[in-house]
Amino acid sequence: MTERHPPRVVPLVDQRSSSLTTPAAAFSPETRLAANGLITDKRQRALRDLRISVTDRCNFRCNYCMPKEIFDKDYAYLPHSALLSFEEITRMARVFVAHGVQKIRLTGGEPLLRKNIEALIEQLSALRTLDGQPLDLTLTTNGSLLARKARALKAAGLQRVTVSLDGLDDAVFRSMNDVDFPVSDVLAGIEAAREAGLGPIKINMVVKRGTNEHEILPMARRFKDTGIVLRFIEYMDVGATNGWRMNEVMPSAEVVQLIHAELPLVQLDPSSPGETAERWGYANAAGQHDKTAGEVGVISSVTQAFCGDCNRARLSTEGKLFLCLFASQGYDLRALVRNNPSDVDLTSAVAHIWQGRTDSYSELRSAMAPDTGLGQRRVEMSYIGG
Ligand code: SAM
Ligand code: SF4
Ligand code: SF4
Repeated sequence: MTERHPPRVVPLVDQRSSSLTTPAAAFSPETRLAANGLITDKRQRALRDLRISVTDRCNFRCNYCMPKEIFDKDYAYLPHSALLSFEEITRMARVFVAHGVQKIRLTGGEPLLRKNIEALIEQLSALRTLDGQPLDLTLTTNGSLLARKARALKAAGLQRVTVSLDGLDDAVFRSMNDVDFPVSDVLAGIEAAREAGLGPIKINMVVKRGTNEHEILPMARRFKDTGIVLRFIEYMDVGATNGWRMNEVMPSAEVVQLIHAELPLVQLDPSSPGETAERWGYANAAGQHDKTAGEVGVISSVTQAFCGDCNRARLSTEGKLFLCLFASQGYDLRALVRNNPSDVDLTSAVAHIWQGRTDSYSELRSAMAPDTGLGQRRVEMSYIGG
């Protein structure tokens, strides 16, 4: 039932070179803004969550993210000098935390491919939120290197991990990662993460209709009662290379129905404002949430826009600040930080950029006909981070 896609020829426009300029008002003494943890954008959305992509490279070629025919041996990845250094990342992270960020997620590409990532984690884990708490510091990984690295990551100060896993059937999984990587190694990585105390562990499964929807129930059965939260993600139209079609999206409502028919579910309240996943708990015989059985989540980025309280900013591998996962351009913070700005200027730049934010791509997409884009080419998920 696994579908192999015919090679697609997708014209690739490199969005990485163009960028937006920080408003000049950020640097003028009259309009400079300080950090008070309270900045909001044009829709009154706070800034709470920062996702940092630490590499644009990956050892998988998931066809929904880095299709082989585009990300081949000739693909021009960023040179090392283009990447933000750990010191630059930490300096920027400190500014975002001063503006109210409480959660930092390291992503990519495959973040565990970035050399000595533990050193970055050590630096970030020393930061404190405005009320003196440690950050919620996490990382999303394909799990391939987790068995080897889990203990070192924990020792460096990482709190938890999210592991991407699109099915339990080995043939389905090998075909989706498209590098013939065995599912058993990812499961071993998840086990190593659990043993190292990198919990609560979340697992992300991208559901692609016609490819892996038959893996939904086996995944639900496997991770029920384990304390691991399995989340089903609607296949999204990120980037410009994955040949996205609406008919390959399985709406989250269908995923919930499918699981509920075998393993009854009850809807749970969101655990925090701006949370991307809708939470569903396994029900006991009385129809109440059975906490020992746990919960699943669904992320309905396509069928149910959740832009209204989106508090996420994204820092790309080369230091561009994106205000939306679907943005086509980012603000070049690397240029700024390499120009030796004062902390005051850097802080003001981020404040001005966030205050000007209007992004709400998912809402706009919902209002459009299926399979239409918004006319601008978007950056790749592997560059901006998930
Ligand atoms: N390589 C790491 C991994 O796979 O977990 C981190 C980066 S990956 C870009 C982050 C997340 O984005 C993964 O959970 C992946 O499944 C998800 N993702 C990538 N492309 C997607 C798409 N087109 N639709 C939905 N989710 C996608
Ligand atoms: Fe790599 Fe993650 Fe993209 Fe898969 S989803 S190709 S593992 S970056
Ligand atoms: Fe946030 Fe953009 Fe996603 Fe809307 S589409 S929830 S603004 S990242």
